[in-house]
Amino acid sequence: MKEVKIDNLVKFYVLISLYSKPRHGYELIKEIREKMGKKASPGQIYPFLKSLRKIGYVGIRTVEAREKKVYRLTNPGKKFVRIILNRFGSLLEIAVKPQLSICAHCGCSVYRGGHKELIKGKNLVFCCVSCAKEY
Ligand SMILES: [Zn+2]
Repeated sequence: MKEVKIDNLVKFYVLISLYSKPRHGYELIKEIREKMGKKASPGQIYPFLKSLRKIGYVGIRTVEAREKKVYRLTNPGKKFVRIILNRFGSLLEIAVKPQLSICAHCGCSVYRGGHKELIKGKNLVFCCVSCAKEY
């Protein structure tokens, strides 16, 4: 598996965007602007697409006489994006884990809120009111 350096969000977004469906270069630029509120210049997008093509992660199809190129991920490209997403998922987990509480009754993880109750002088966290009742 060839490594591609994903050192900025624009690259990350290009990959995610192509993973959902094939797109024109200008569509990618437009979407990044809309969804990320960030201006992506063709100078950021096209060289990156070119490098992805070079290693076989992206293929192109030319439509119409105007030669608009549609970029799509190849199977190895899709595999690579799944790896990136997994990695990103683990990072999120690391970031979120310290904020988790454990329900004193059922043991499930509680991210935000939950139900807090003072029982026998102890502040306990529950995932819901019924867990607190049954405790
Ligand atoms: Zn519970």
